[in-house]
Amino acid sequence: MTQFLRVLGRRAPQRALSFNVVHQNGYNFDLNETQKEFQAVARKFAREEIAPVAAYHDKTAEYPSEIFKKAWSLGLVNLRIPKHCGGLEESLFNSCLVVEELFWGCSGIATAVSSAGLGVTPLVFAGTKDQQRKFLPRLLEEPLTTGYCVTESGTGSDVNGVQTRAEKKGDEYVLNGQKMWITNGGVANWYFVLARTNPDPKCPASKAFTGFIVERDTPGVIPGRKELNMGQRASDTRAVTFEDVRVPKENVLLGEGAGFKIAMGAFDQTRPPVACNATGVAQRCLDEATKYSLERKTFGVPIAQHQAIAFILADMAIGVETARLIWMKAAWECDKGISNSYTASIAKAYASEVANKCASDAVQVFGGAGFNSEYPVEKLMRDAKILQIYEGTTQIQKMVISRNITTKQTG
Ligand SMILES: Cc1cc2nc3c(=O)[nH]c(=O)nc-3n(C[C@H](O)[C@H](O)[C@H](O)COP(=O)(O)OP(=O)(O)OC[C@H]3O[C@@H](n4cnc5c(N)ncnc54)[C@H](O)[C@@H]3O)c2cc1C
Repeated sequence: MTQFLRVLGRRAPQRALSFNVVHQNGYNFDLNETQKEFQAVARKFAREEIAPVAAYHDKTAEYPSEIFKKAWSLGLVNLRIPKHCGGLEESLFNSCLVVEELFWGCSGIATAVSSAGLGVTPLVFAGTKDQQRKFLPRLLEEPLTTGYCVTESGTGSDVNGVQTRAEKKGDEYVLNGQKMWITNGGVANWYFVLARTNPDPKCPASKAFTGFIVERDTPGVIPGRKELNMGQRASDTRAVTFEDVRVPKENVLLGEGAGFKIAMGAFDQTRPPVACNATGVAQRCLDEATKYSLERKTFGVPIAQHQAIAFILADMAIGVETARLIWMKAAWECDKGISNSYTASIAKAYASEVANKCASDAVQVFGGAGFNSEYPVEKLMRDAKILQIYEGTTQIQKMVISRNITTKQTG
């Protein structure tokens, strides 16, 4: 695999990946040679390193530390860290290209790998250069990961319901509250945390919340037990409690009251990746179903020769191809600086529905074997479900999409 990699600079191997982005004008579906090469590296890693241990991590729910370290040393983690912090500052498009491949291997393990960027996104989006230099270079020096703490047990879709409080005391803020369903809750080195700084319930969301970077080892930060979820079991999901956690005012992003804007703004960059994740899962479903349908015979012929099965495969392929196109468009818009909330929500809603339909169809193609945990597709079906829930449910995406349509109509 290393033959594909160019080791660059002092911080290699984390900086091993480098895309040579060619900015072409007009309509173009070509990946350049370097993009193809790195897509191939990620594909090989997914097939040779991730897929073989996927069932083990699903059964044991063990966090895939070794795979994370290998992916990190190959430069497949945190491609978006800015150059001034020693990173590659890759485009969202190129980062998604790599991550789609990883999700083909196992979406639980790939979540553990790619979610290292969960806290990075708000920090790059809203942090000062000094703040970025304080928290980002360490992610390139060691295989460390981050977390994004917004959801609470009482509120997920409705971010305005966040109850975690941050009170200013001198040069510090004191945080109290509990976050729920936090990816990397137990393994993150630091978290982005959204907390209410204005206690007045009438204060608009746009002013009531503040975003903080909180070090994991700050006294009073208490991760809960690892949650046993339906799917993506390799990923580390936990509650995180904040008990009188003292955070220096230098760790406030963009200023007091700007937290809601940061949390919402980050979605434009995190929803296209979920859509590419879903596309990787859908592609895996199609590949597994195709292979099985050519091997399994009924009534004297491979089941792929029954039109009903062949058309299921065709429908899956239609979904995979169109899901890929829409995540690409959403990521491309983000990279071009075009407002992409609308396309990012379409991509997230559509690709996650496609992944679930493809997973259910793959189980159908496998028949009884599809329902059994010795075969790969029941895991795909369990893994796919969360794609419709985190980073905003399908219903929330449809709220964003419909608001965009009606605003355009009336605006
Ligand atoms: C495995 C996993 C990992 C996660 N990782 C993170 C993380 O790292 N960080 C983080 O902050 N959060 C994380 N989450 C939380 C996730 O983002 C939320 O679960 C999600 O946003 C939904 O919120 P909720 O669970 O509170 O559901 P609710 O908001 O209570 O929604 C319940 C149902 O009502 C629907 N609904 C809600 N409001 C409306 C409306 N206005 N109109 C129509 N339908 C509506 C929803 O679509 C859903 O079907 C994670 C969750 C899971 C399960």
